[in-house]
Amino acid sequence: MNHTGKVYLIGAGPGDPGLLTLKGAEALRRAEVIVYDRLANPALLKLASPNAERIYAGKLPDHHTLTQDEINAVLVEKGLAGRTVARLKGGDPYVFGRGGEEAEALRAAGIPFEVVPGVTSAIAAPAYAGVPVTHRDECSAFVVITGHEDPTKEESSLDYDALARFARGATLVFLMGVRRLPQISAALQAGGLLAETPVAVVQWGTLPQQRVATGTLATIADEVKRQNISSPAVTVVGGVVNYRDALRWFDLPEEKPLLGKRIVVTRARAQASELSEALRDLGAEPIEVPAIRITEPEDGYAALDAAIAELESYDWVVFTSINGVDHFWQRLRAAGRDSRVLGRARVAAIGTATAEALETRGIVADVVPEQFVAESLLDALSGEEIAGKRFLLPRADIAREALYKGLQAAGARVTEAHAYRTLVGEPDAGALATLDEGVDIITFTSSSTVRNFVEQVGAERAQRLAANATIAAIGPITASTARELGLRVDFEAEEYTVAGLVQAIVRATTTGALRAGRPTTANGERLMAQAVE
Ligand code: SAH
Repeated sequence: MNHTGKVYLIGAGPGDPGLLTLKGAEALRRAEVIVYDRLANPALLKLASPNAERIYAGKLPDHHTLTQDEINAVLVEKGLAGRTVARLKGGDPYVFGRGGEEAEALRAAGIPFEVVPGVTSAIAAPAYAGVPVTHRDECSAFVVITGHEDPTKEESSLDYDALARFARGATLVFLMGVRRLPQISAALQAGGLLAETPVAVVQWGTLPQQRVATGTLATIADEVKRQNISSPAVTVVGGVVNYRDALRWFDLPEEKPLLGKRIVVTRARAQASELSEALRDLGAEPIEVPAIRITEPEDGYAALDAAIAELESYDWVVFTSINGVDHFWQRLRAAGRDSRVLGRARVAAIGTATAEALETRGIVADVVPEQFVAESLLDALSGEEIAGKRFLLPRADIAREALYKGLQAAGARVTEAHAYRTLVGEPDAGALATLDEGVDIITFTSSSTVRNFVEQVGAERAQRLAANATIAAIGPITASTARELGLRVDFEAEEYTVAGLVQAIVRATTTGALRAGRPTTANGERLMAQAVE
C-alpha cells in the first residue's frame, strides 16, 4: 500500500540558530526532505541528515525562486510520495509566513501535518536590540502589523487612524515595512500619534550582522536611509523603544568586540566548532570552509595496530594532535584493548588541546611542552634519558620530520605509525560563494589548513581573498607555510592554541589593526541562503 508521509511546518526562528525549538530540531533530524526559506538560517541544515533532499524555496525580493503555489505543490508531492518533510520557515510559520496556506493545501490533499511554532522576529528582533515589546509602565498590548501594504492606497486594509489611536496604549511592530517607512510614519502622525514617538528599526535581528537604527516617527525614515538599513527588518513604535539604552545586551561593543565580523574557519569540520563557537560568542559570524578532511592513512592501520599490539615494549608515546589521540583510541578499542596499555609508557603531548584529549581518556601527559611545536618537545625532554629508549609516534602521514629526526639524533629508537591522513576538504559551493562576497579575517590553525585552503580555492582566488582580508595564523609554523605560499600573514597568536588565536583576533580588532576588509553593508543586504546553495 502506498502510505502518505508527514509534513512538519517548522518555525526556524528569526536567525540565531539557537532559537530553533527542540521539537523543530528533532523533526529536522528525522526529515527525508527539507524545504527551506530564505529567512531560515542555513546553519540549521547541519542538523539534518546528509542524505536528506534539500529544496530551496526562498523568495527573493526581485525574482521568485518558487511561487507559493509551487511550494504548496512540492509539499503535497513529497507528502504523497510517503516522505517525512521538514518545511523550515523563518520566524514562526503562522506569523506572516503563509504557513496557513501550506497547511490548507496539505489538508486538502489528505496529507498529515504538524505545526512547530517558532520564535517570531516580531518579538525576538526587538528583544535582541534591547527593546521589550511590552513593559508594564508603557503599554497593555502589542500589535504585529504587515508594513507591506501602502497606507496611502485605497485598497489598504489597515485603518491607520485606528492604529494611531490604539498605539497610545500599545506597541506597534511592523514586519516587511522598511521600504514603506516614510508612508507608515506619515500615516501614523496623520492619525494623531506624536511626532516624538520613539521608533527602532532592527535589521537582521538576532544575527551577528544585526543593525539597529533609532529615532522618532519624525526622524526614523531619514535615519534608516542614512544608515542604509534595508530588509529584513522589524520596526517597533512606542515608549518601549526608550528601554534600549538601559537594556541593550546583544550588540554591546564591550561584550561583542567581534560584532558583525565575518571570520573564515578552515579547520576540519569535526574540529571547527570550538573556534566557531568562541568567535560567535564574541559576535562574529564564523564561515566554515573546512580545508581538511580526516581519513584512514593511505597505507592503512597495519603499522599502528602492530604498535598497539606490543605497546608494553615502548618507553614513550608522543601524541602530536587531537586527531592522533582520537585515532589511536579508535584502533585501541578495535583491538579490544583500553587505556591500561599505556600503564608502563610515559606520555608526551604537543599542545594543551592534545593533552586535554588525553585527559578525557584518563591519561595525564607526563610532558607537555610550553610551546606547541615539535622542537619544544625536544627541549622539554632534554632532562630525560632518551638514548636507547623506544618511542612511538602515532601521527598524520604527512607530519613534519623535525620530531622524528630530533629524537633519532638523540639516540632514541623511534617508530612512526600513521594514525590518520589529512586530505583537502570538499569545497562547499555555498561557503565559497560567501567567501567571494568578502570576509574580514581568514584563520589558519595548521600548515595543512593553509596548504589545503589554497588548493581548495585555487591560488589566484586565495590571493584575491587575502588581499582584502586580514590573515591570522595560530603560530609561527603555520605563518611561515602561509608566507611560503605567497600569503601575507597579519598576525599570529601568542599562545598557539584556539583560545590564543581568538585572543589575538580580539586584540587586532579592538586596536583597529584589521585591514579594510570586505565591501560590506554598503551594498545592503546579503542573502543568507547563499551559504547553502
Ligand atoms: N514568519 C516570520 C515573518 C515572515 S515575514 C516571523 O515570524 O518572523 C518577513 C519579515 O519578517 C521581514 O520582512 C522582516 O520584517 C521580518 N524578519 C524576519 N527575520 C528577521 C530578522 N532576523 N530581523 C529582522 N526582521 C526579520
